[in-house]
Amino acid sequence: MVEPSPAPRDGLSTTRSVSPGILKIQELNRRALEDPEGFWGPIAAELSWFDRQGPLFRATADPPFGSWFPGWSTNLAYNCLDRWIDTPRRHRVAFYWEGEPGDHRALTYYQLYREVNRLATALRAAGVGPGDRVTLYLPMVPELPIAMLATARLGAIHSVVFGGFAAPALAERLNDSGSRLVITADGGWRRGKVLPLKPIVDAALHHSPSVEKVLVVRRTGSEVAMVPNRDQWYHDAVAGSTVAVAAVPVPGPHPSFILYTSGTTGRPKGAVHGTGGYMLWSYYTTRVVFDASDRDLFWCTADIGWVTGHTYVVYGPLLAGLSSVIYEGAPDFPQPDRWWTIVQKYGVTTLYTSPTAIRAAIKHGDRWPRQHDLTSLRLLGTVGEPINPEVWNWYFREIGGARCPVVDTWWQTETGGILISPQPGTAHFPLKPGSATLPVPGVDAQVVDEDGRPLPPDRKGFLVIRRPWPGQFITLWNDDARFRSVYFSRFPKWYYPADYATADADGYFWLLGRADEVLKVAGHRIATIELENILITHPAVAESAVIGRHDEMKGEVPVACVVLKPGFDGTPRLREELLGLVRTTLGAIAVPAAIYFVEKVPKTRSAKIMRRLIRDVVEERPLGDTTTLEDETSVEDARRAYQEFKDELRRTPP
Ligand code: ATP
Ligand code: MG
Repeated sequence: MVEPSPAPRDGLSTTRSVSPGILKIQELNRRALEDPEGFWGPIAAELSWFDRQGPLFRATADPPFGSWFPGWSTNLAYNCLDRWIDTPRRHRVAFYWEGEPGDHRALTYYQLYREVNRLATALRAAGVGPGDRVTLYLPMVPELPIAMLATARLGAIHSVVFGGFAAPALAERLNDSGSRLVITADGGWRRGKVLPLKPIVDAALHHSPSVEKVLVVRRTGSEVAMVPNRDQWYHDAVAGSTVAVAAVPVPGPHPSFILYTSGTTGRPKGAVHGTGGYMLWSYYTTRVVFDASDRDLFWCTADIGWVTGHTYVVYGPLLAGLSSVIYEGAPDFPQPDRWWTIVQKYGVTTLYTSPTAIRAAIKHGDRWPRQHDLTSLRLLGTVGEPINPEVWNWYFREIGGARCPVVDTWWQTETGGILISPQPGTAHFPLKPGSATLPVPGVDAQVVDEDGRPLPPDRKGFLVIRRPWPGQFITLWNDDARFRSVYFSRFPKWYYPADYATADADGYFWLLGRADEVLKVAGHRIATIELENILITHPAVAESAVIGRHDEMKGEVPVACVVLKPGFDGTPRLREELLGLVRTTLGAIAVPAAIYFVEKVPKTRSAKIMRRLIRDVVEERPLGDTTTLEDETSVEDARRAYQEFKDELRRTPP
């Protein structure tokens, strides 16, 4: 039985006796930092390498200040597939895939290996070789991981673009990466409707001259136009090709993929990940954070278009030899219990999702999960935003049956895999709802002040990572200068994630949101999550987004947008109750200057709250004078979201 400590109301924690588990994790971390060779060597040896020349880590003078496996060579797809092909795992299911309409497919490691080889043959025939870029613009169908692995097999670089992006965003990413080939589909299913993809590729390609060839997966059967000499059906391209394509050995630092960050903060950044270090990190974190083993059926609900999907839908689980679930569609289609139906049907043991998805489930009501047998679950995880203790507790209780540890995992596109998280499988690990807990071994995390001085427990400051870790990205595609300035100039020599945090007396980290979203009210720094954590404890509140509005007197004042659960009304009395709640828990200084009751808060495509956009609306600033939305399409989408949100605020004065 797992017993989380009670949720601290103020985002800070009270000290308690140090558990042996914590000491063990801290000891592992010390070893990994002091002797990377000794610590990572045996773990790297669990993976396959074609060559191992020289050290596994070499410090470099320039950012990111280290190179992993510089003289070694390997292949990511080889490690995901070939490594298992001569073992009993050959016929174990790698992916149970379920389409939104209810169709399904199971692919064993062998079948996946065969499909990857067939596509790799076709790609090679199309001239794709090491270092070439291939853009994948696909729904959540098995062909997406197959295409990633086929690309990796050839030493080529994939750039997966989330299927929700419109043509200008796709074109921008195609051009930035200089992709030669695109793999797409006629469409995908979303809430019972076809989401067209091929027409978007066609529109994007008017502006993307580097693309020579397009392969099209038939998924929905909808009509698409095929451009002669450029477009080919995927099934035709792979027909008859059964030849095994030898995996191409690549050096440890060879780029394996480009992934554009979700774009909450500005023009998309093409994070480039290497091969050896990324592989080690995906493998290692999947094993230790999720305590993964053969008894598991793993399900990470993230779209493969985001880094979470890269690392914990595709690479981590395959490197660890796991069986996992991939689901194509919406969580609430045809009913709000679709996910719980899937957990029950397949016997999912490990569920990894986002706070935003959990808040949506809470809003739909407890009756949906309660109709299903969720007893197969043994471990739960979250990622993407800070999780409110209230939401953590619901997840723990309603989904995990108060049995399953919840791993709140902090990481970023740039970090390749999880950096701060509980490791309940490694040691007895006391959990604190709302805390991502301790760094994974090899991660030198610290909370520092403006000048980089370490802060004492419970003092808010900037999170920094003071040493290179294996999963770190190697640069921004085409933009080394931006790579240095965004991540390595705020604090010279350290990686700057741009997140705000505290560490408590047990060394547990509490992530408080983006550093640039912290409010400064009359000289006090208040993180948006601190207020949101309080608002959501009210039984009427499903979700909230707090931002800072400029104020002549106080510098900034908090403003809250509150989404209510069904059956509740945004009455003046409720508003008073919420204000009172903040006053008594955080203090008068933090009391919002306004509370708006809204139907929904604007979110990014990866479902994170867009506080900047809310701020623009609330401050009646025209959209566009922030850097948030430089990317063409997000401007379009954001403009719509901005207008809708503005109209809604007009209808519901504070
Ligand atoms: P962009 O960098 O383009 O603005 P993004 O930061 O939203 O996009 P991601 O790399 O997917 O794109 O998200 C990483 C960020 O998500 C972190 O920097 C942090 O702010 C937040 N985050 C992720 N996991 C957690 C977590 N467990 N707790 C708190 N915050 C988290
Ligand atoms: Mg980011």
